Amino acid sequence: MQAAKLLRELVALPSVNPGFVRAGDPTAGEHRVGEYLAARAMQLGLEVDRQEVLPGRHNVLIRLGPARPARQRILLAPHLDTVVAGEGQLVPRLARGRLYGRGACDTKGSLAAMFTALAAVAARRRRPQDTEIVLAGLVDEENLQAGSRALARAAFRADLAIVGEPTRLDVVTAHKGDLWLRLETRGKAAHGALPHLGRNAVYEMGRVLAVIEGEYAAHLRRRRHPVLGSPTVSVGRVSGGTQPNIVPDHCAIEVDRRTLPGETDAGVMRELGSWLRRRGLRVRMSDIKGAPSPPLETDPRLPWVQELMRCVGQRRVVGVHFFCDAAVLAAAGIPSVVFGPGDIAQAHTAEEWISLRELEAATRVLTRFLEGLP
Ligand SMILES: [Zn+2]
Repeated sequence: MQAAKLLRELVALPSVNPGFVRAGDPTAGEHRVGEYLAARAMQLGLEVDRQEVLPGRHNVLIRLGPARPARQRILLAPHLDTVVAGEGQLVPRLARGRLYGRGACDTKGSLAAMFTALAAVAARRRRPQDTEIVLAGLVDEENLQAGSRALARAAFRADLAIVGEPTRLDVVTAHKGDLWLRLETRGKAAHGALPHLGRNAVYEMGRVLAVIEGEYAAHLRRRRHPVLGSPTVSVGRVSGGTQPNIVPDHCAIEVDRRTLPGETDAGVMRELGSWLRRRGLRVRMSDIKGAPSPPLETDPRLPWVQELMRCVGQRRVVGVHFFCDAAVLAAAGIPSVVFGPGDIAQAHTAEEWISLRELEAATRVLTRFLEGLP
Protein backbone atom coordinates (compact mmCIF):
# COMPACT_ATOMS: atom_id res chain seq x y z
CA MET A 1 0.00 0.00 0.00
CA GLN A 2 2.86 2.41 -0.81
CA ALA A 3 0.81 4.76 -2.97
CA ALA A 4 -1.87 5.05 -0.27
CA LYS A 5 0.74 5.97 2.33
CA LEU A 6 2.20 8.62 0.05
CA LEU A 7 -1.25 9.96 -0.75
CA ARG A 8 -1.99 10.47 2.96
CA GLU A 9 1.20 12.53 3.28
CA LEU A 10 0.29 14.60 0.22
CA VAL A 11 -3.26 15.34 1.38
CA ALA A 12 -1.89 16.50 4.75
CA LEU A 13 0.26 19.09 2.92
CA PRO A 14 -2.06 21.92 1.84
CA SER A 15 -1.52 23.19 -1.71
CA VAL A 16 -4.51 25.40 -2.38
CA ASN A 17 -4.21 27.44 -5.55
CA PRO A 18 -3.24 30.97 -4.40
CA GLY A 19 -5.70 32.36 -6.94
CA PHE A 20 -8.58 31.17 -4.74
CA VAL A 21 -7.54 32.55 -1.31
CA ARG A 22 -6.31 35.80 0.20
CA ALA A 23 -2.61 36.69 0.10
CA GLY A 24 -0.84 35.13 3.08
CA ASP A 25 -3.39 32.34 3.56
CA PRO A 26 -1.48 29.52 5.29
CA THR A 27 -2.94 26.86 2.98
CA ALA A 28 -1.92 28.68 -0.22
CA GLY A 29 0.77 27.52 -2.63
CA GLU A 30 2.13 24.32 -4.14
CA HIS A 31 5.61 24.62 -2.55
CA ARG A 32 5.04 22.20 0.38
CA VAL A 33 3.97 19.38 -1.92
CA GLY A 34 6.66 20.21 -4.50
CA GLU A 35 9.47 20.25 -1.94
CA TYR A 36 8.25 17.06 -0.27
CA LEU A 37 8.32 15.23 -3.62
CA ALA A 38 11.70 16.70 -4.52
CA ALA A 39 13.15 15.44 -1.22
CA ARG A 40 11.66 11.97 -1.70
CA ALA A 41 12.98 11.85 -5.28
CA MET A 42 16.50 12.83 -4.23
CA GLN A 43 16.49 10.06 -1.60
CA LEU A 44 15.82 7.68 -4.50
CA GLY A 45 18.77 9.09 -6.45
CA LEU A 46 16.58 10.81 -9.05
CA GLU A 47 17.46 14.11 -10.66
CA VAL A 48 15.28 17.08 -9.66
CA ASP A 49 14.81 20.38 -11.53
CA ARG A 50 12.62 23.30 -10.57
CA GLN A 51 11.05 25.64 -13.10
CA GLU A 52 9.87 28.94 -11.66
CA VAL A 53 6.45 29.69 -13.12
CA LEU A 54 5.24 32.56 -10.91
CA PRO A 55 6.98 34.19 -7.92
CA GLY A 56 7.50 31.41 -5.37
CA ARG A 57 5.65 28.86 -7.49
CA HIS A 58 7.63 26.14 -9.23
CA ASN A 59 6.97 23.17 -11.43
CA VAL A 60 9.02 20.29 -10.01
CA LEU A 61 10.56 18.00 -12.64
CA ILE A 62 11.78 14.59 -11.47
CA ARG A 63 13.85 12.72 -14.03
CA LEU A 64 14.80 9.09 -14.47
CA GLY A 65 17.00 8.75 -17.53
CA PRO A 66 19.42 6.24 -19.02
CA ALA A 67 23.19 6.75 -18.80
CA ARG A 68 23.40 7.25 -22.56
CA PRO A 69 21.39 9.94 -24.40
CA ALA A 70 17.70 9.05 -24.39
CA ARG A 71 15.96 8.44 -27.71
CA GLN A 72 12.51 9.24 -26.39
CA ARG A 73 10.79 10.81 -23.43
CA ILE A 74 7.60 10.01 -21.52
CA LEU A 75 6.09 12.77 -19.40
CA LEU A 76 3.93 12.12 -16.36
CA ALA A 77 2.07 15.36 -15.65
CA PRO A 78 -0.14 15.62 -12.58
CA HIS A 79 -0.85 19.01 -11.02
CA LEU A 80 0.15 19.96 -7.47
CA ASP A 81 -2.57 22.51 -6.64
CA THR A 82 -6.08 21.96 -5.30
CA VAL A 83 -9.21 24.04 -4.91
CA VAL A 84 -9.98 25.59 -1.51
CA ALA A 85 -9.99 23.16 1.44
CA GLY A 86 -13.06 23.02 3.65
CA GLU A 87 -13.12 22.35 7.37
CA GLY A 88 -11.26 19.14 8.22
CA GLN A 89 -10.26 18.42 4.61
CA LEU A 90 -6.56 18.77 5.30
CA VAL A 91 -6.63 15.85 7.72
CA PRO A 92 -6.69 12.67 5.62
CA ARG A 93 -9.30 10.22 6.85
CA LEU A 94 -9.60 6.56 5.97
CA ALA A 95 -13.01 4.88 5.94
CA ARG A 96 -14.39 1.83 4.12
CA GLY A 97 -11.56 1.60 1.62
CA ARG A 98 -11.71 5.29 0.78
CA LEU A 99 -9.30 8.08 1.57
CA TYR A 100 -11.07 11.38 2.26
CA GLY A 101 -9.47 14.83 2.02
CA ARG A 102 -8.96 17.78 -0.29
CA GLY A 103 -7.05 16.73 -3.38
CA ALA A 104 -7.40 12.98 -2.64
CA CYS A 105 -9.00 12.52 -6.04
CA ASP A 106 -8.11 15.78 -7.86
CA THR A 107 -5.33 15.08 -8.27
CA LYS A 108 -3.01 13.94 -5.52
CA GLY A 109 -4.22 10.38 -6.16
CA SER A 110 -2.74 10.52 -9.67
CA LEU A 111 0.37 12.19 -8.28
CA ALA A 112 0.86 9.42 -5.69
CA ALA A 113 0.28 6.66 -8.28
CA MET A 114 2.71 8.23 -10.76
CA PHE A 115 5.42 8.87 -8.18
CA THR A 116 5.10 5.33 -6.76
CA ALA A 117 5.30 3.81 -10.25
CA LEU A 118 8.36 5.90 -11.09
CA ALA A 119 10.01 4.87 -7.80
CA ALA A 120 9.31 1.21 -8.60
CA VAL A 121 11.05 1.53 -11.98
CA ALA A 122 13.96 3.43 -10.41
CA ALA A 123 14.43 0.61 -7.87
CA ARG A 124 14.80 -2.06 -10.57
CA ARG A 125 18.19 -3.26 -11.68
CA ARG A 126 17.14 -3.03 -15.33
CA ARG A 127 15.87 0.45 -16.10
CA PRO A 128 14.71 1.71 -19.53
CA GLN A 129 17.77 2.02 -21.79
CA ASP A 130 16.48 4.50 -24.37
CA THR A 131 13.73 6.41 -22.58
CA GLU A 132 13.82 9.28 -20.16
CA ILE A 133 10.82 9.40 -17.82
CA VAL A 134 9.97 12.81 -16.40
CA LEU A 135 7.40 13.36 -13.69
CA ALA A 136 6.42 17.04 -13.78
CA GLY A 137 4.41 18.25 -10.80
CA LEU A 138 2.67 21.27 -12.31
CA VAL A 139 1.36 24.37 -10.55
CA ASP A 140 -1.86 26.27 -11.17
CA GLU A 141 -3.92 23.76 -13.14
CA GLU A 142 -7.08 24.65 -11.24
CA ASN A 143 -6.88 28.30 -12.19
CA LEU A 144 -5.07 29.39 -15.36
CA GLN A 145 -2.81 26.39 -16.09
CA ALA A 146 0.28 28.58 -15.71
CA GLY A 147 2.38 25.47 -14.95
CA SER A 148 1.63 23.55 -18.13
CA ARG A 149 1.77 26.75 -20.17
CA ALA A 150 5.26 27.48 -18.80
CA LEU A 151 6.41 23.96 -19.65
CA ALA A 152 5.00 24.36 -23.17
CA ARG A 153 6.67 27.76 -23.55
CA ALA A 154 10.03 26.28 -22.53
CA ALA A 155 9.72 24.04 -25.62
CA PHE A 156 9.65 20.89 -23.49
CA ARG A 157 9.41 17.86 -25.78
CA ALA A 158 7.97 14.43 -25.10
CA ASP A 159 6.68 11.47 -27.11
CA LEU A 160 3.69 11.11 -24.80
CA ALA A 161 2.31 13.05 -21.84
CA ILE A 162 0.10 11.23 -19.36
CA VAL A 163 -1.77 14.00 -17.56
CA GLY A 164 -3.02 12.93 -14.13
CA GLU A 165 -6.70 13.61 -13.53
CA PRO A 166 -9.46 11.41 -12.13
CA THR A 167 -10.69 9.41 -15.15
CA ARG A 168 -11.71 6.20 -13.33
CA LEU A 169 -8.72 4.50 -14.96
CA ASP A 170 -9.81 5.29 -18.51
CA VAL A 171 -7.19 6.48 -20.96
CA VAL A 172 -8.86 9.67 -22.20
CA THR A 173 -7.87 11.05 -25.59
CA ALA A 174 -10.47 13.80 -26.07
CA HIS A 175 -12.13 16.57 -24.13
CA LYS A 176 -13.93 19.77 -24.98
CA GLY A 177 -12.40 23.21 -24.97
CA ASP A 178 -13.83 26.14 -23.03
CA LEU A 179 -14.41 29.69 -24.18
CA TRP A 180 -15.83 32.48 -22.00
CA LEU A 181 -17.40 35.39 -23.83
CA ARG A 182 -18.75 38.72 -22.71
CA LEU A 183 -21.52 40.17 -24.87
CA GLU A 184 -22.66 43.76 -24.44
CA THR A 185 -25.59 45.67 -25.83
CA ARG A 186 -25.74 49.47 -25.93
CA GLY A 187 -28.90 51.57 -25.76
CA LYS A 188 -29.87 55.14 -24.95
CA ALA A 189 -30.76 56.31 -21.43
CA ALA A 190 -34.05 58.17 -20.83
CA HIS A 191 -36.48 58.94 -18.02
CA GLY A 192 -38.42 55.87 -16.92
CA ALA A 193 -41.66 57.83 -17.46
CA LEU A 194 -40.74 58.49 -21.10
CA PRO A 195 -39.33 55.14 -22.27
CA HIS A 196 -40.10 55.86 -25.93
CA LEU A 197 -37.34 58.52 -25.85
CA GLY A 198 -34.69 55.92 -25.00
CA ARG A 199 -33.47 52.63 -26.33
CA ASN A 200 -33.56 49.84 -23.75
CA ALA A 201 -30.31 47.81 -23.74
CA VAL A 202 -31.86 45.18 -21.45
CA TYR A 203 -34.70 44.51 -23.90
CA GLU A 204 -32.13 44.24 -26.66
CA MET A 205 -30.18 41.71 -24.57
CA GLY A 206 -33.42 39.83 -23.95
CA ARG A 207 -33.67 39.25 -27.70
CA VAL A 208 -30.02 38.14 -27.78
CA LEU A 209 -30.70 35.69 -24.92
CA ALA A 210 -33.71 34.26 -26.74
CA VAL A 211 -31.60 33.60 -29.84
CA ILE A 212 -28.80 31.97 -27.81
CA GLU A 213 -31.15 29.76 -25.79
CA GLY A 214 -33.30 28.86 -28.78
CA GLU A 215 -31.98 28.76 -32.33
CA TYR A 216 -28.26 28.93 -31.57
CA ALA A 217 -28.34 26.14 -28.95
CA ALA A 218 -30.44 23.98 -31.29
CA HIS A 219 -27.92 24.61 -34.07
CA LEU A 220 -25.11 23.45 -31.76
CA ARG A 221 -27.00 20.28 -30.83
CA ARG A 222 -26.95 19.25 -34.47
CA ARG A 223 -23.13 19.40 -34.52
CA ARG A 224 -21.78 16.10 -33.13
CA HIS A 225 -18.43 14.58 -32.25
CA PRO A 226 -18.34 10.75 -32.07
CA VAL A 227 -16.94 10.70 -28.50
CA LEU A 228 -17.76 14.12 -27.03
CA GLY A 229 -21.27 14.70 -28.33
CA SER A 230 -22.34 18.26 -29.07
CA PRO A 231 -20.83 21.61 -28.15
CA THR A 232 -22.82 23.56 -25.58
CA VAL A 233 -23.63 27.14 -24.70
CA SER A 234 -24.72 28.50 -21.33
CA VAL A 235 -25.28 32.04 -20.11
CA GLY A 236 -23.86 32.26 -16.60
CA ARG A 237 -24.17 35.93 -15.70
CA VAL A 238 -26.19 39.00 -16.61
CA SER A 239 -25.90 42.61 -15.52
CA GLY A 240 -27.38 45.85 -16.73
CA GLY A 241 -29.18 49.05 -15.85
CA THR A 242 -28.87 51.23 -12.76
CA GLN A 243 -32.33 51.80 -11.25
CA PRO A 244 -36.01 51.33 -12.10
CA ASN A 245 -36.70 54.86 -13.36
CA ILE A 246 -33.86 55.01 -15.89
CA VAL A 247 -34.09 53.31 -19.27
CA PRO A 248 -30.86 51.26 -19.26
CA ASP A 249 -28.25 52.13 -21.86
CA HIS A 250 -26.05 49.14 -21.15
CA CYS A 251 -26.40 45.40 -20.56
CA ALA A 252 -23.83 42.59 -20.47
CA ILE A 253 -23.91 38.81 -20.28
CA GLU A 254 -21.16 36.24 -19.76
CA VAL A 255 -21.36 33.07 -21.78
CA ASP A 256 -19.69 29.68 -21.34
CA ARG A 257 -19.21 27.97 -24.70
CA ARG A 258 -17.75 24.43 -24.68
CA THR A 259 -16.01 23.72 -27.96
CA LEU A 260 -15.38 20.56 -29.97
CA PRO A 261 -12.14 19.54 -31.68
CA GLY A 262 -12.15 21.41 -34.99
CA GLU A 263 -13.77 24.52 -33.53
CA THR A 264 -11.53 27.52 -32.81
CA ASP A 265 -12.21 30.41 -30.43
CA ALA A 266 -12.03 32.92 -33.29
CA GLY A 267 -14.35 30.78 -35.42
CA VAL A 268 -16.91 30.52 -32.62
CA MET A 269 -16.89 34.30 -32.09
CA ARG A 270 -17.29 34.92 -35.82
CA GLU A 271 -20.14 32.42 -36.05
CA LEU A 272 -22.07 33.74 -33.05
CA GLY A 273 -21.55 37.35 -34.17
CA SER A 274 -22.93 36.74 -37.63
CA TRP A 275 -25.77 34.59 -36.20
CA LEU A 276 -26.90 37.60 -34.15
CA ARG A 277 -26.25 40.19 -36.89
CA ARG A 278 -28.43 38.25 -39.32
CA ARG A 279 -31.28 38.67 -36.82
CA GLY A 280 -30.70 42.39 -36.59
CA LEU A 281 -28.97 42.23 -33.19
CA ARG A 282 -25.79 44.18 -32.51
CA VAL A 283 -23.46 43.19 -29.66
CA ARG A 284 -19.89 43.90 -28.63
CA MET A 285 -18.15 40.57 -28.03
CA SER A 286 -14.92 39.86 -26.13
CA ASP A 287 -13.03 36.79 -24.90
CA ILE A 288 -12.70 36.99 -21.10
CA LYS A 289 -11.08 33.61 -20.32
CA GLY A 290 -7.62 35.12 -19.94
CA ALA A 291 -5.91 32.07 -21.42
CA PRO A 292 -6.95 29.94 -24.38
CA SER A 293 -8.49 26.58 -23.40
CA PRO A 294 -8.65 24.57 -26.61
CA PRO A 295 -10.23 21.13 -26.98
CA LEU A 296 -8.13 17.96 -26.83
CA GLU A 297 -8.11 15.26 -29.48
CA THR A 298 -5.18 12.89 -29.54
CA ASP A 299 -5.04 10.06 -32.09
CA PRO A 300 -5.81 6.90 -30.09
CA ARG A 301 -3.90 4.86 -32.67
CA LEU A 302 -0.52 6.37 -31.68
CA PRO A 303 1.74 3.50 -30.55
CA TRP A 304 2.34 4.76 -26.98
CA VAL A 305 -1.33 5.54 -26.50
CA GLN A 306 -2.15 2.03 -27.70
CA GLU A 307 0.41 0.59 -25.30
CA LEU A 308 -1.05 2.45 -22.31
CA MET A 309 -4.55 1.33 -23.34
CA ARG A 310 -3.26 -2.24 -23.53
CA CYS A 311 -1.88 -1.95 -19.96
CA VAL A 312 -5.33 -0.79 -18.83
CA GLY A 313 -7.19 -3.39 -20.91
CA GLN A 314 -9.17 -0.69 -22.72
CA ARG A 315 -10.47 -0.97 -26.28
CA ARG A 316 -12.89 1.90 -26.79
CA VAL A 317 -12.01 5.57 -27.27
CA VAL A 318 -13.00 7.68 -24.25
CA GLY A 319 -13.64 11.40 -23.88
CA VAL A 320 -14.46 13.54 -20.83
CA HIS A 321 -16.23 16.85 -20.35
CA PHE A 322 -13.72 18.68 -18.19
CA PHE A 323 -10.82 20.79 -19.42
CA CYS A 324 -7.28 20.08 -18.12
CA ASP A 325 -3.53 20.52 -18.72
CA ALA A 326 -3.59 17.86 -21.48
CA ALA A 327 -4.98 20.32 -24.02
CA VAL A 328 -2.30 22.89 -23.20
CA LEU A 329 0.51 20.34 -23.67
CA ALA A 330 -1.13 18.94 -26.82
CA ALA A 331 -1.41 22.43 -28.30
CA ALA A 332 2.36 22.68 -27.83
CA GLY A 333 2.89 19.53 -29.89
CA ILE A 334 3.13 16.87 -27.16
CA PRO A 335 0.75 13.94 -27.79
CA SER A 336 -1.26 13.91 -24.56
CA VAL A 337 -3.76 11.67 -22.82
CA VAL A 338 -5.46 11.94 -19.44
CA PHE A 339 -5.34 9.07 -16.97
CA GLY A 340 -5.77 8.61 -13.25
CA PRO A 341 -7.63 6.99 -10.39
CA GLY A 342 -10.79 8.49 -8.92
CA ASP A 343 -13.96 10.01 -10.33
CA ILE A 344 -14.32 13.66 -11.33
CA ALA A 345 -17.75 13.51 -9.63
CA GLN A 346 -15.92 13.57 -6.28
CA ALA A 347 -13.48 16.32 -7.28
CA HIS A 348 -14.00 19.79 -5.76
CA THR A 349 -16.73 18.46 -3.39
CA ALA A 350 -16.91 18.94 0.37
CA GLU A 351 -16.56 15.16 0.77
CA GLU A 352 -13.77 14.55 -1.74
CA TRP A 353 -12.53 10.95 -1.63
CA ILE A 354 -10.73 8.31 -3.66
CA SER A 355 -11.05 4.53 -3.69
CA LEU A 356 -7.78 3.00 -2.48
CA ARG A 357 -8.40 -0.04 -4.70
CA GLU A 358 -8.47 2.27 -7.72
CA LEU A 359 -5.35 4.06 -6.51
CA GLU A 360 -3.49 0.74 -6.33
CA ALA A 361 -4.85 -0.33 -9.74
CA ALA A 362 -3.62 2.94 -11.30
CA THR A 363 -0.21 2.41 -9.72
CA ARG A 364 -0.02 -1.12 -11.17
CA VAL A 365 -1.02 0.06 -14.66
CA LEU A 366 1.53 2.87 -14.65
CA THR A 367 4.28 0.62 -13.28
CA ARG A 368 3.59 -1.96 -15.99
CA PHE A 369 3.64 0.75 -18.66
CA LEU A 370 6.89 2.35 -17.44
CA GLU A 371 8.63 -1.00 -16.94
CA GLY A 372 7.80 -1.95 -20.51
CA LEU A 373 9.54 1.11 -21.99
CA PRO A 374 12.63 0.39 -24.05
ZN1 LIG B 1 -7.42 18.34 -11.55
